[in-house]
Amino acid sequence: MKKKTIVWICSEAAPFAKSGGLADVSGALPAALADRGHHLHVIMPFYPQIMGRYNQKLKVRYQGLGVPLGHWNEWAQILDIRISERLCFHFIEHHRFFDRPSLYDHNGVEFADNPERFIFFSRAAMQAVLAMRLKPDIIHANDWHSALACVYLRSPLYRQFDNFSHCASIVTIHNIAYQGNFEKSKMPLTGLGWQYFNYHCLEFHDRLCLLKGGVMTAHAVNTVSPTYALETLSPEYGFSLDPSLRERAMNGDYKGILNGIDSDEWNPESDKLIPSNFTRERMAGKKVCKRKLQREMSLPERSDVPLFGLVSRLAYQKGIDIFASCVEEALLKDEMQFVILGSGEPFLQTRLSYLASKHPEKIAVKIGFDNRLAHMIEAGSDIFLMPSRYEPCGLNQMYSMRYGTAPLVRATGGLDDTVSNFDYANPSASTGFKFWDLNPRSLLDTMRWAASVYRNKPQSFKAMQKNMMLQDFSWNRTAGEYEKLYDNAAGRL
Ligand code: ADP
Repeated sequence: MKKKTIVWICSEAAPFAKSGGLADVSGALPAALADRGHHLHVIMPFYPQIMGRYNQKLKVRYQGLGVPLGHWNEWAQILDIRISERLCFHFIEHHRFFDRPSLYDHNGVEFADNPERFIFFSRAAMQAVLAMRLKPDIIHANDWHSALACVYLRSPLYRQFDNFSHCASIVTIHNIAYQGNFEKSKMPLTGLGWQYFNYHCLEFHDRLCLLKGGVMTAHAVNTVSPTYALETLSPEYGFSLDPSLRERAMNGDYKGILNGIDSDEWNPESDKLIPSNFTRERMAGKKVCKRKLQREMSLPERSDVPLFGLVSRLAYQKGIDIFASCVEEALLKDEMQFVILGSGEPFLQTRLSYLASKHPEKIAVKIGFDNRLAHMIEAGSDIFLMPSRYEPCGLNQMYSMRYGTAPLVRATGGLDDTVSNFDYANPSASTGFKFWDLNPRSLLDTMRWAASVYRNKPQSFKAMQKNMMLQDFSWNRTAGEYEKLYDNAAGRL
């Protein structure tokens, strides 16, 4: 296969700036593709207040990058961090738009100028390709923040340049609920004529929808798991973009590719953020991790009680309200412990914190974003909760399996694709616990089922643990699927 030059455009990438799974993917998949011989240029905004120690590593690549925005020009710089010969991160520096303490919102309220910020960013990425004299084979946009790049690529604004003469575009949907849906008065900012404001491009119920523009104009569209790809074709999961996706799917242009995980960062054998390392063969360290986690969270240090972990954005999507509705019954009647880490909706934060203050011997809650504690919870819990309403892929269930922690998931999206439900007859082919009906009773019943397997069938639980730890979720497997997608897209030029 011919090696490609790929421009990957995203609003966040680990370890530089992260709010969720998009950052994990953007940090790991470009690296996996570079390892396979492709040339990767990752373009993202520069967030000086968030990037901490990486600020010192930046090298100025290009000054005075002019970026048209509406009827004027914004000025930016390109700053580089080179990771390897074939992988370079290019950061778009623009203080007014990106020098802020958070990525997209302030205390849950979206920044009012998000349309300006990300229309600017998508255009800046295209300008950066020209400024750096790249000749990409693929423009890979991610989510609404950069989807507009696919529209630009089709437009005379950029088609005229030799740099893009053999370039195809992909847009990956990491979560279809976030669409970049704005008043149509923002349309002139794009610099595209009103002819692009139509049903087959950027128009969506008389509003400007950046993700829709990407979905309709990219040479290929994908999302991050096969089941989520199917689900998003339905009104229930498609957040009104399902008709556009059905149109693409009908022509074979829409598919699901399961995310991988960074198996070096999430490796119980070498993880420096957990108190004791362990492997599939030597599991003693996991007991230490459980004890230390209980101690740190001020829970009784008991090995016989199943410990449930949960690390999540506290959002409607994640079904945290379903959990909060049933956990009190478990706290009153069952021998279970819970460690929760998350931040998000204020009413969920308050509800969980209240439960922790009422039952401190059974549930500990930390509100905030804490990577070290996330690793501790993955390593120290027995069971990991993901009661999501919908889940494009989900990463934590795969991290959990690496650490021998059984994911308990709602069977949706990537959770359904990655977890095989516990089977008494064949525990060594199982990788977790599933429930289907989205209600507190089903979740509670499944938690009780998982707890009873943990307590009463320890050999079966251990057999399942061993099987979970064997699963291969490395990016290398997934990178091959993306190569096929790129070939498909290039074939549609
Ligand atoms: P999403 O992208 O929808 O938030 P994913 O499961 O795809 O969900 O990815 C979430 C990522 O963010 C995981 O790496 C998870 O460990 C991490 N994460 C979420 N909330 C927190 C938190 N409060 N502290 C630390 N890590 C978190």
